[in-house]
Amino acid sequence: MEENYDTLAAWDHAHLWHPFTQMQGFVQEDLLIITRGEGVYLFDHHGRRYLDGVSSLWTNVHGHRQPALDQALQEQLAKVAHCTMLGLANIPAINLAKGLVDLTPPGLTRVFYSDNGSTAVEVALKMAYQYWQLRGEKQRRTFLKLKEAYHGDTLGAVSVGGIDLFHQIFKDLLFPTLEAPNPYCYRCPDQDHCQSQCLTALEQIVAEHHREIAAIILEPLMQGAAGMIPQPPGYLKRVRELADAYGLLLIADEVATGFGRTGTMFACEQEGVSPDFLCLAKGISGGYLPLAATLTTEAVYETFLGEFQDFKAFFHGHTYTGNPLAAAVAVANLKLFQEERRLEKLQPQIAYLTSRLQEWQDHPHIGDIRQRGFMVGLELVQDKAAKEPFPVARRQGHQVILAARQLGAILRPLGDVIVLMPPLAISMTELQDLCDITIQAIAQACER
Ligand SMILES: *Cc1c(COP(=O)(O)O)cnc(C)c1O
Repeated sequence: MEENYDTLAAWDHAHLWHPFTQMQGFVQEDLLIITRGEGVYLFDHHGRRYLDGVSSLWTNVHGHRQPALDQALQEQLAKVAHCTMLGLANIPAINLAKGLVDLTPPGLTRVFYSDNGSTAVEVALKMAYQYWQLRGEKQRRTFLKLKEAYHGDTLGAVSVGGIDLFHQIFKDLLFPTLEAPNPYCYRCPDQDHCQSQCLTALEQIVAEHHREIAAIILEPLMQGAAGMIPQPPGYLKRVRELADAYGLLLIADEVATGFGRTGTMFACEQEGVSPDFLCLAKGISGGYLPLAATLTTEAVYETFLGEFQDFKAFFHGHTYTGNPLAAAVAVANLKLFQEERRLEKLQPQIAYLTSRLQEWQDHPHIGDIRQRGFMVGLELVQDKAAKEPFPVARRQGHQVILAARQLGAILRPLGDVIVLMPPLAISMTELQDLCDITIQAIAQACER
């Protein structure tokens, strides 16, 4: 194994293609090679330490090198690393399914595994579609999504995506969908006389097209990749009521919001909503291994039952479905939530974060501050009064994360929205440092 920094950097630039990255600019910047993690910190090749301010892309929960998670993984490794779930079962996958059903909103009784958030969404879309086909309502062939939605990068997930920058170029490859406006209050033309126009528009689409719709899909409480866009209180509940009124299925994509991110175990809980499908990934394994689950109801499951020769089975599965290593660490992740009283201990941290964010209200370049628990978006603007964005070529969000890196924190921008998504296990002093670094980085980069 090569360890020399210069050689590694040369090989990276010669052979790697990084995700969501314009490589032409990337290869001109210093390459940050992470060599280890500890708690909420990551360490680079030169031994420099960084706060993991985005939980290694929204996955980490209890910290890096968490002893109980390390141990769960090692114990399973001593038994078997992988075996198929096509026709076979394994102990961690069974235990995890039971744990997930006990933990998720009532009514969700069936767990279908895959390995990432996009596939969790694909599974929900295909199950919802086949459900209606099996029930003889063959005209229900489309999905209602929200503008700015993000559900992953595979083509089915992209079809129900609404971010033009990512999705527009592939439009000829996608299946048609219906799109409702999303509640983006900061840039809403009607915000001074809000009468929930975005919700009314959604209601109108449902009223008009409900016979063609298989399911409504959304990220409950907050759209993540869109730039951390929260929904007003009552919104999710209203969407559930609408789906019920018209007999539509509801897919809640909690790939980002699940596992404590919004302050409760699942975002749906905050509005007392049980979806027909719940998509989980990112935090499910505590940030250790790729794993995803799509949960659904007994009513959906039973529709697929029949004799072999009826061919009603769900013909879908991924090679690493229910991987024992990933499932074992996920079981340990759920156990830690309980043992560490993670959600209870998180509440003072959320309150502290809220109070720090409030201090930044008047910052000349922070146009909007959006928070749901430990999901935060800071929308940077050049001119606060006019809500005028920075010029795109200036890559203001990127400049901020480079400044933060110098100050000792890893952050991510979504365009010019700076994201904070620290591991739930972050201590009060570490959180204080993260806030200090964030605001300093914004000041340095915006005043340059
Ligand atoms: C990240 C994300 C996905 C996609 O997950 P991957 O593991 O990257 O495929 C889907 N939905 C939401 C809401 C996400 O945040």
